[in-house]
Parts: sequence; structure tokens; C-alpha cells
Amino acid sequence: MSAPFPWQTAAWSILCGARRAAKLGHAWLLCGRAGTGKAKFAHHFAQLSLCESAAAANTPCGECRSCHLFKAGNHPDFRRLAPLDDARSIAIDQVRELGDFFALTTHYGKAKIALLAPADAMTRAAANALLKLLEEPPALGLFILVTNQLDRLPPTIRSRCQRLALDQINPALALGWLQVESPTTAETDIALAYRLNHQAPLATLAALAAGELELAAKVETHMIGVASGRMHAVQAAQAIGEVPPARLADLMLDNAHQLNLQLLNAVHSPADGESERLHNQAGLISLINQLNSRQIFEFVTSALEVKAMSGPTANFRPADMIDLLWQAWMKATRTSHRQGTQTV
Ligand SMILES: [Zn+2]
Repeated sequence: MSAPFPWQTAAWSILCGARRAAKLGHAWLLCGRAGTGKAKFAHHFAQLSLCESAAAANTPCGECRSCHLFKAGNHPDFRRLAPLDDARSIAIDQVRELGDFFALTTHYGKAKIALLAPADAMTRAAANALLKLLEEPPALGLFILVTNQLDRLPPTIRSRCQRLALDQINPALALGWLQVESPTTAETDIALAYRLNHQAPLATLAALAAGELELAAKVETHMIGVASGRMHAVQAAQAIGEVPPARLADLMLDNAHQLNLQLLNAVHSPADGESERLHNQAGLISLINQLNSRQIFEFVTSALEVKAMSGPTANFRPADMIDLLWQAWMKATRTSHRQGTQTV
């Protein structure tokens, strides 16, 4: 057992088992949500496949010539394809070069490995070129494709790969790892950040380092301020400053979700690995007495619309979308002040 992260042990065993049984085939597709460590997993497996130590059944030795070259990024039997520099896509020329790479025999006789991450970044032409390689796989060739967005890969590519989902994450293992990586963060804060980051441990760690909890606390405070009439939407937007609109939408939606759970009197079970949310929650809970589910629903609908507009092809200014989110919150939460309590 030597997966890079503790929640990947089962998936690692599957790949290593296939390798030992000589049933690895030529192409694997590693899929799952972002921030769960798929690329590192793929790298680690590539290193293992190239390792020259006879003892390296489940973990690369780290000492042999191959392991040294691999760690230095110079292994002649390994290629990593990703979008170049500022490009968003993996171009056809990059995949064509793979054809040349596979046409040569292996330098060290173990394998020739191409890792494409994110594989969904391939242009259509690049995907077609890859398909040709997959249709006539080279001897000792292994393709490892990594994606967060499985449905963006052509079915013809998907069908030629063995698939391994890497987002079956045991929350206890992920939270334990986060506690080790972020020892000064309180357990409840880690649990909160983990939930806010869609149960993706690496995304959670990055968010903690980037001050996510401070931002979450600010958002919560300003949501309370706006809903209580102490603050205007414009002031809240200014106070939050420049954050990615989709991130703000997620934080606001999470608070809305928490409020709704409380309104529905649902108990958020810690059994699923998420501890009770304690962070500044007393303030949020105080809104329960003045809000109802219809208002929350109205906000959620608007926030999801704004979030949908903030994709990679967005034509809207981030500041405008941030304004829209706060306006939506103000409109939804203050409407009832005039209309009295509504029921759904
Ligand atoms: Zn080695």
C-alpha cells in the first residue's frame, strides 16, 4: 500500500493488482471531482510502473536510476501533457508528438507512459489524434488520462479506457489528513472548510491557506447584516471586495443551505464525517426567526443563476456578479419585512 493520500488506498490497490496480474491494459481514465489528488496519484503510479527495483510491487523504490530521473522530471519514457503556458487546451501538435514518443522503443525496457491531465482540455482535433493512438496501442505503452469533467471527454475516448473513480473519499481519513497538514486549525474549522470545498481534501487545504475561513466568516456576518437591515447590499459587496463570484456564491449558498436545514428542523448528522458547524453560527441561526423557506429558495434560485453566469466563458464583470449576489440576498430576505411572514 502506498497511495499518495490515505483516502486513495482502495483505488491504488486496484491499479497495483491489475499491474501484478499483467492486466493493466493500455489506457486508464482517472476521474472524480477537483482537489482530490488524482494527478499526484497518476504521477505516483507512473513512477511505480517505471521503477527498476524488483521489490517495487506497490510503491516505487525512490532510489533507482528510473526513480531519480522521474523525480527530476527527466525520465525519457514518460511524457506529461497539459495545456501549454497560457493556453486553455491541449493542442493536436502535443498529441502528435506523443506518436513520435511511442514510436521509439523504451529506454529502460519497463514501459512508456503518457499522462494527460486534464485530459478534458484536449481540443477535438487532439482528441481525435489520441483516439488513433488508443486504437493501435504501442507495445509497453500506457496512457493515463485524468479528468474532473468526465462528460467533456468524447465517448470514443472514454470507451477505450479502463475507468477508475477517485472521489470515493472516506471523510474520516480526509479530515485526519487535513488535521495533520494544518495542525493549528481547529477541528471544527477544518470540518467546515472541508464541506465548503465539496469534500475535496486538497482543495480544502488550499482554501485554508488562502484564508477561506476568514472570508466565510465575513460573508456570514454581512449576510446577517443585510438580512437584518443593518447593512445595504452595496456596502456588503464593497466590504467583501474582490473574490471570485463563484466562490462567493458557494459560500452564500452554503449559508442558505444551513439556514434551510435549520428551518426544516433537520439535524445535520455528524455521522457523515462533517462536524457540527459552530463557526459564527449563533448569528446565522438568529435569522431563523425572521426568514422562511420561500425567501431562502428565492435567493438560492438567483444565486445559482449568477453562479451559472460566472463560468469560463463569462461575459460579465466579476464586480457586477458580486453585486447581483448581494442584491439577491437583500431582495429575498427583506421582501417579507413588508409582506409579513410567508409560508410555503
Ligand atoms: Zn525505483
